[in-house]
Amino acid sequence: MANLTSGLVAFTAALALSVTGGAVAGPAFADPRETEKTSTATGYGGAVSTVDPEASAAAIEVLRKGGNAADAAVAAAATLGVTEPYSSGIGGGGYFVFYDAETGKVGTIDGRETAPAKMPHDAFIDPATKQPYRFTPELVTSGISVGVPGTPATWERALDRWGTLSLGDALKPAIKVATRGFVVDKTFRQQTLDNKLRFEAFTSTSKLFLPGGDAPAVGSVFQNHDLAETYRLLAKNGTESFYGGALAAEIAATVKAPPKSAGTTLPVPVGHMTTADLAAYRAMDQAPTRVDYRDLDVYGMAPSSSGGTTVGEALNILEPSNLSAMSTPGALHHYLEASALAFADRGKYVGDPAFVRVPTAALTDPIFGKERACQIDPLHAAAKPVAPGDVSSYDGACPAAAVAPADEKDTENVSTTNLTVADKWGNVVDYTLTIEQTGGSGIVVPGRGFLLNNELTDFTTVYDQADPNRIEPGKRPRSSMSPTIILKEDKPFLALGSPGGSTIITTVLQTILNRVDLGMTISEAIAAPRASQRNTAKVTAEPEFIAAYGSQLTPFGHQFTPSGDAFTSAAEIGAATAIEFRDDGRMVAAAEPVRRGGGSAMALKQSPR
Ligand code: GLU
Repeated sequence: MANLTSGLVAFTAALALSVTGGAVAGPAFADPRETEKTSTATGYGGAVSTVDPEASAAAIEVLRKGGNAADAAVAAAATLGVTEPYSSGIGGGGYFVFYDAETGKVGTIDGRETAPAKMPHDAFIDPATKQPYRFTPELVTSGISVGVPGTPATWERALDRWGTLSLGDALKPAIKVATRGFVVDKTFRQQTLDNKLRFEAFTSTSKLFLPGGDAPAVGSVFQNHDLAETYRLLAKNGTESFYGGALAAEIAATVKAPPKSAGTTLPVPVGHMTTADLAAYRAMDQAPTRVDYRDLDVYGMAPSSSGGTTVGEALNILEPSNLSAMSTPGALHHYLEASALAFADRGKYVGDPAFVRVPTAALTDPIFGKERACQIDPLHAAAKPVAPGDVSSYDGACPAAAVAPADEKDTENVSTTNLTVADKWGNVVDYTLTIEQTGGSGIVVPGRGFLLNNELTDFTTVYDQADPNRIEPGKRPRSSMSPTIILKEDKPFLALGSPGGSTIITTVLQTILNRVDLGMTISEAIAAPRASQRNTAKVTAEPEFIAAYGSQLTPFGHQFTPSGDAFTSAAEIGAATAIEFRDDGRMVAAAEPVRRGGGSAMALKQSPR
């Protein structure tokens, strides 16, 4: 039997302080529960990194029993639906990237949520006032922002295409965790408190996540029997039982008439989803984006996500610059400028390719990147926002300076979760999944144990025919999710991803640069303080970044604003996970040491037989 690296897995016989959550309060179990978090783990027989020890343990259990990376990724994702229900789950969507060791190819699945067929262009305009709904509270806590979930279809497709387990078997660890409960940590309690007003607005949500009127206490055990039952239904009858039948009818009914509490003051605009929308949902196979960076092949998620094109374009912009020979502030200046340029093009060109023409090939073309690099002054930050480039005509030569556009307001929220898994055969998964905002729409489907997403807030609010991200029925809103797999000499070198709304792109980009150009280990690259330049006048940065580099970057002309907002209690950017593959066969799984309460890296020391 394979050994786990020592100290990586501590199964805690957690004595339940109280039992909370779920439809049924069960007895206080004293079962083993995975609570210990280690941010770096090294092994040879498979590895995983997630934000949560129960999810990582689920993946390890599958790998240990001979499952592959796709199987383990679905098991971990389903477990995150239990333990990270405010960031992911079957009520949301995501993007799954897989490296197939047998073929040497990277494939992806687009499991993004779609707009209902009856969603009008002016869905985000208040019919009463003819003005746009406010982002908060109207849009974020609403039926109108709920997209048709893509996550169950993604799991099914990933298992069909690359896995060895049935959906039922892949769901087993998650069903166990939902039934026996997990130990509530500070992050879970704080996220519940951050959402209290929204959760109280719905009878179903307050019953599940505010038992007794309060967020579950740290150290208590949280069970979700409703979700266990829903997973059992999927295990038995497949995803037809989600996209059809009674559950589909309940999801559509919940979106059209959210179960509002009597006393809530939140407006909660209703949505347009029908059972036909659910029946029509398909997760899609997609070709990945690919760029060369240094001696690496970087594969990312193509549109409908802007992740692959934007990370890829920024890397192409940076390719001509020798960052490793620069001072750290000089390299960071280049990173910030390249990111702003790539974001300008993201805004102008990227939307759902099923509805708008997206110039993916140009955006990831090294010649276009070289031309965009002309805009970087090595000593001075450009005035932001910078103008987009011209994808219709470029040749790598420096064009005349373009007119700058108006500053864009970035309304994407920051939640989501990422997981990275590798198996002993060398298959690799990076999978980012979400319900959009932490807590999604705030609406639990009554009696089913999961929250619905509010992903459609990722559309531009006011319809504009020139905007690639305008609302259209059936369309996928533009995402920033950036699950990334990097090969070196045709073998996996690094897989990584992160949550964080549009900061996902900069977190993935900065982590790659930290590792590849700035000489950090993968663990250091993840732990390093982050800054995010998304083509705005000021760079959003973690306080630690401003403290470390602010005074050295200000002379370039960069201005900073600390990360964090009024809604969340955290000032951090992202929560990355990664696995690095060493030449000697070692896999180094890396998770956050601090952000989001610290993540969980685990590795099998030896190959399971
Ligand atoms: N809605 C975001 C996206 O798809 C992800 C949610 C988040 O990380 O906040 O890009």
